[in-house]
Amino acid sequence: MVSWSRSFMIAIKIVVFSIVWAVVGLIIILIGSASVILAILTDPTAFQGSFSNQAAFGIVLLTAIIGTIVTALGTIATVVKFTTDEAVKEVFTSNIAPRATQAVAPIPPVQPVGVSNVSTTPTQVKGNYKICPRCGTPNLQEAKFCKKCGTPLP
Ligand SMILES: [Zn+2]
Repeated sequence: MVSWSRSFMIAIKIVVFSIVWAVVGLIIILIGSASVILAILTDPTAFQGSFSNQAAFGIVLLTAIIGTIVTALGTIATVVKFTTDEAVKEVFTSNIAPRATQAVAPIPPVQPVGVSNVSTTPTQVKGNYKICPRCGTPNLQEAKFCKKCGTPLP
């Protein structure tokens, strides 16, 4: 589960990026309006006549629509992006991690092989050793007496 503190952090990110997208949308709308205003300022007769009026209105409307779409899509994309990012992080920390430890678990059987190698080495060595008849201590083949108890070896 995503904690509330993390959810609020995501919410802040979404709000901030939504504002950025709103600004981008507003800039597009302003560019449309400004271009019409600039055209009128440079040439007051630019949009006179019913057709030109419609053209000016069309430019403003078009940029307004584009700006709104950009803002809306940007906001939705922001929500999708951050929630998806967080969902992926959540899956990695909650689901995959226990599976990863489960996947690591089969590896330890490799270590017992190493351990068994260590344990087989003494048994191999034991063959070259003389076991003391009194205390059971393995002694070197050439040893005359037990290194632990001093018993003469056969
Ligand atoms: Zn001994």
